Amino acid sequence: MNRALWKDRVLSSEVLRSEEGRRVKLAGWVHSIRDLGKVVFIILRDRDGMVQLVFSLNTSGRELVEQAKRLGKEYVVMVEGFVKHTEKAPGGAEVHVDRLQVVNEAEVPPHLEPDQRAKVDLDVRLDDRMLDLRRPENYAIFRINHVVLSAARRYLESEGFMEVHTPKLIATATEGGAALFPVAYFDKEAFLAQSPQLYKEQLSAVFERVYEIGPLFRAEESHTNRHLSEYVGIDVEAAFADEEDVMRVLEGMVAFVIREVTERCRKELELLRRELKPLSTPFVRLTYDEAIERLREVGIMIEWGHDLTTEAERALGRMFDGPFFIVDWPTHLKPFYIMPREDDPSRSYSFDLMYGWLEIASGGRRIHRKEQLIARLKEQGLNPDSFKHHLKCYDYGMPPHSGWGLGLARLMMIITGREDIREVVLYPRDRWRLTP
Ligand code: ATP
Ligand code: MG
Repeated sequence: MNRALWKDRVLSSEVLRSEEGRRVKLAGWVHSIRDLGKVVFIILRDRDGMVQLVFSLNTSGRELVEQAKRLGKEYVVMVEGFVKHTEKAPGGAEVHVDRLQVVNEAEVPPHLEPDQRAKVDLDVRLDDRMLDLRRPENYAIFRINHVVLSAARRYLESEGFMEVHTPKLIATATEGGAALFPVAYFDKEAFLAQSPQLYKEQLSAVFERVYEIGPLFRAEESHTNRHLSEYVGIDVEAAFADEEDVMRVLEGMVAFVIREVTERCRKELELLRRELKPLSTPFVRLTYDEAIERLREVGIMIEWGHDLTTEAERALGRMFDGPFFIVDWPTHLKPFYIMPREDDPSRSYSFDLMYGWLEIASGGRRIHRKEQLIARLKEQGLNPDSFKHHLKCYDYGMPPHSGWGLGLARLMMIITGREDIREVVLYPRDRWRLTP
């Protein structure tokens, strides 16, 4: 293979910015082919976008035109030619090719060709996910995903947070709640981590401000469009901070992410036909009691102490366009480590961040005294013995601390307007899907 040909290749967008007549090398995939007999137009796709290639008798010669006619969609090719500016080409420029090398042929099922506009069932697409990801809309989704992650990291770093990674293989002690996946660990049974909760709390007693972006695992039995068995969480924990302090970090991060995506992903948002409204902070804060009262007014009855149903969440989402917090949840609805309110222990210093109809994050102030934590473990029917490694840390100087966990894909659903979480995860895992 002629390596030299791609060594100093340019990307498609550079062609559009190049001066007339510049000689360029390009590499990528054949996105589409239009054969007009004497002229063949090819749309070449690379990581940067697309550009039109022209094979004509004049510049390319008969042999090359014939070769171009035999190309198939998704063939990997390298070409060399001259830039020509013309109104007729998409983006205003094209490359007239005089050298072509086919690096690899391809054979793709017609309904999965990346230039197809027709709607294809998501499951069918997911079965051939690599090919499916080449669709321009999907490419756009994951470009945005990248910008979301990079913006989140930048924001958290600017707020003094340090990135950490905690174990995903854990022993028995769990937070309760979500079901865990067991794994064979040598001669023991281990589990896949459902959250970095206990580790990030411990680390807040060392580094004060930590965050983790990593995979989390939950054996979600029910099949919904917003739950996966494996998802990426953005988790934050801060020492000497209360729930209001970390809510400010959360809303600040979400607003910054939306601004960055709006600025850096214009092309992608346009392709997905999305317009993002800039967010102003602080976000609306609504207590749990106010939320159930508002729901009662529209005829949705939630008894105090019960979790909000999906119907209730959708109704609230219609009342508040955009993100809003629900705070002061009943203590027994929240995990054992959440601190009950001093003035009313049946309620807690906790919050959920809703964005439209979706819960995108949960957090709160944590208990930092050992006796209180043990009492709460027992109240929730958990055995303090299984938490002995964690509880020991409370003997060594645990600072007051607070934090939250946000589901990356939930935020991506909002940004991209996709209603199924599987659309915004590269290789989704759910009750029924473990491949590809
Ligand atoms: P839900 O009520 O929607 O099931 P949860 O309250 O059980 O979520 P938390 O434990 O609060 O979830 O997790 C923090 C965040 O992680 C959630 O707000 C959500 O954005 C995300 N998340 C939780 N479970 C999943 C899942 N199975 N798939 C994708 N994201 C999830
Ligand atoms: Mg939650």
